[in-house]
Amino acid sequence: MADPSMPSADRLLARYDLYRRNLSWRALPGVAPDPYRVWLSEIMLQQTTVVTVAPYYGAFLARWPIIEGLARADLDDVLHAWQGLGYYARARNMHKCAVMVAGEYGGRFPDTEAGLRALPGIGAYTAAAIAAIAFERPATVVDGNVERVMARLFAGETPLPTAKTELKALAADLTPTKRPGDYAQAVMDLGATVCTPRNPDCGRCPWADGCMARATGMATDLPRRLPRKARPLRRGLVFWAVRCDGAVLLRRRPEQGLLGGMIEVPSTPWKATGWTLSKARFHAPLEADWRRLKGVVNHGFTHFELELAVVAATIEGAAEGQWCRPECFADLALPTLTKKVVSHVLDSPPLTDA
Ligand code: SF4
Repeated sequence: MADPSMPSADRLLARYDLYRRNLSWRALPGVAPDPYRVWLSEIMLQQTTVVTVAPYYGAFLARWPIIEGLARADLDDVLHAWQGLGYYARARNMHKCAVMVAGEYGGRFPDTEAGLRALPGIGAYTAAAIAAIAFERPATVVDGNVERVMARLFAGETPLPTAKTELKALAADLTPTKRPGDYAQAVMDLGATVCTPRNPDCGRCPWADGCMARATGMATDLPRRLPRKARPLRRGLVFWAVRCDGAVLLRRRPEQGLLGGMIEVPSTPWKATGWTLSKARFHAPLEADWRRLKGVVNHGFTHFELELAVVAATIEGAAEGQWCRPECFADLALPTLTKKVVSHVLDSPPLTDA
């Protein structure tokens, strides 16, 4: 007979039935989840918090209540509605996925992890979450919350990220075949509200009796992590060209790669060493009397830090390109980096010699 003190899905589900978080994208008990809503929320929740996502989820659903509507939407409208959620590649993939599901799958999402993973923007975690929540597949859903809970339950001392495989295996052992969707959401809830990173509230935890970290007083020390590598620094130089009517020259980044297809102020490529103006001129969008602004713009990407210097110039006469007055920037889906450049320029003191 199973040891009743050991962690079990039943215990967690009993707690979930009493204390489940009331999230707008969650189907009510007894109501079949809508895969479109599950997918939409899971894409939005990637690298973003529940609190941030809630208003965006509501707005998207009000505007595009079914996947066919989202598939028909103009990509720029989708990107604009996404503004503030960051990582625009997710929004682009989301739109691509909607087009594919509406067009090639007759509006129905595949109901297996493998089928879901074949769609744009759906990785291992998201496929498992959708398969479990929308289709009741016993998929093992592992995010940072679940890793923390498993590391503590079993007092796993292997540091992350090395421990990922072992934590996933532990999570898989606990995943039930009955109510896997509720179970996936119950573990997420436990990690988000009870087994929190700094102050685990073990007194409210249904798995407290069998938790090895709690028994040994190690909960807040786990999971262990390898020290983070310092991110390399890259540097670039931005060209802020202003027409006499106040419009500023913008451009769209290439579709592929970082910030793919997003609007930016033209710049040099980004590299490890800094740019002199004479070398940067080769990348300038126009011939002009470029003057260096004081200070730099700093921005952190996942794998590197970016430092941008800015030069500015007033352009006489007509010049080709996408020109936009700063008061109209709000109509564009500008990534955070571009917004930082805009704020830096608009807050800068008058030009100095380069
Ligand atoms: Fe986390 Fe405490 Fe529950 Fe262990 S008993 S899983 S440390 S909340």
